[in-house]
Amino acid sequence: MAKQVGSERLGELYDGKMQVFKRREWRGWKDTLYDYWRWLKILLMLGKFLLHPKNVKGFFRYRWMVNYLAVPMMIDKHARGLRGEALRICREEYDLVADDVAQLLTAIFKVDQNLGAKPEDSANVVLVDENEMTNILCGFPNLKARSWETVACYVCVLLMQDSAYHYLDVVQEMGLPGDVCPMPADEAGVCIDDDMPIFGKCAVQCNTTCDGSLMGNGVISRAYERHGIPVFQLATPLRHTEPGVQEYAAQEVRNAIKFIEDQTGEKFDWDYYFECAKRINIGARECAEWLEMSKTDYPPAIGNNILLYRETEYMAIAGKVPAFAETDLKITKLARQAFEKKTMLAKEYRHRAVIWGVQSQFYTDFVAWLLNCWGIVPLFDMLTMVSLDPISEDDKEQAIYDIAHQYENMIMRNRTHGGYEVLLDDLWRYCEEFRADMVILWEHISCKALDGMHGMFEEQARERGIHLIWVNHDLFDSRVIPRANLRQDVNRYMRSVLREEPIAPSLEEFDDTNLW
Ligand code: SF4
Repeated sequence: MAKQVGSERLGELYDGKMQVFKRREWRGWKDTLYDYWRWLKILLMLGKFLLHPKNVKGFFRYRWMVNYLAVPMMIDKHARGLRGEALRICREEYDLVADDVAQLLTAIFKVDQNLGAKPEDSANVVLVDENEMTNILCGFPNLKARSWETVACYVCVLLMQDSAYHYLDVVQEMGLPGDVCPMPADEAGVCIDDDMPIFGKCAVQCNTTCDGSLMGNGVISRAYERHGIPVFQLATPLRHTEPGVQEYAAQEVRNAIKFIEDQTGEKFDWDYYFECAKRINIGARECAEWLEMSKTDYPPAIGNNILLYRETEYMAIAGKVPAFAETDLKITKLARQAFEKKTMLAKEYRHRAVIWGVQSQFYTDFVAWLLNCWGIVPLFDMLTMVSLDPISEDDKEQAIYDIAHQYENMIMRNRTHGGYEVLLDDLWRYCEEFRADMVILWEHISCKALDGMHGMFEEQARERGIHLIWVNHDLFDSRVIPRANLRQDVNRYMRSVLREEPIAPSLEEFDDTNLW
């Protein structure tokens, strides 16, 4: 055991029976102490969270709250194998996201009618979907955009692989077919099971991605209306690359702003909007720089170190929280240091891969395994590739189109809808730009939006001489395809097609059946 990257036999940290690793990873004195100190800080944050009496009440009221016990473990999983600057980037990002989620939970429980609050306590809250931009709220400094689905569904599956099982069973008992995407099905299940916090003055829902999402939104909007919460349906165009739809998209944004103004009595504040727009531009500019470095032989911020953080910043934060813009600058500084030192993130790089398709939510640390086990460098994933276009910081008319553009380019929908050029052509363009010789394609078996393209991906990858590895999963439901099977899809290809041996044999097969 030493401090060098790749020195730990990571596969030996797993024990099929336990829900956590057998012990912490040894990364040399400096990095182990740094990592341990950040881990203690997360425990401290959880302790502080439980000092609020409403949070304790929420803990016992909602079944999904138990998943939050696994926050320290979830960050550990994403930091596997990292050293030096890459470890620090990971900890900066994930600790900030964890802190933001803790604040969101605290804010929700404070005004939750299930925990004794009154409707007027949430008169400044606008509800949004889990998978929705919140930049429309950048014009309302006195209002808060809140999504209960984020904390009750989306984050929970990242924390524990079995968090959605109960709600998926509930919704299927009510007659929903088992092949509906588990993400909207889980949200509908939480709502039907009466595990949805009740709060908010009004709600803005968006036709996020697909028929499954629309179904989920239908169930949830009925519940909102039963509780006297009016809902606006923001219908963003699906063929979002076509110039002809842009005026329609902008008009939808104007209508949504008018709805919020009418419901809350607040007026759109352009000064605050442009202040947030500046921070949105910082996030895009810094991310563009990380990606630029990823085109070289020494990419410093890849895989887990942009996944989740960038999604959170783009949609849930959207310039409203200054700490994210500050962290962006810190990440760039660390990334540049690592790049200048030609730092390697694994002991050997064998393939450069673009990770495409909709990722398995219960196994987002799979990309760390790709790097550590097979030396496959996971350059970036599809969900990270949202809009990096700079937005106006002073033009009010243009700003409406910018808001619409970001709605059209929300994660997932900007690729699963919009035609071949955003799903296929862009993939091959990225492969060329980033010199990728491999594509890891998530095959989410309940996602009708992507399934139809299977043959075209195969045909076009073959034409270009790119190794294409399909990894099957069912998004939120690890009962359908467990984590070990996801790894098996890669192992089989690496051994039978490429005839390669893993760079870390202890990671090829291991038992993480019960790991959170
Ligand atoms: S993964 Fe596919 S089916 Fe599920 S919400 Fe996204 S686009 Fe819809």
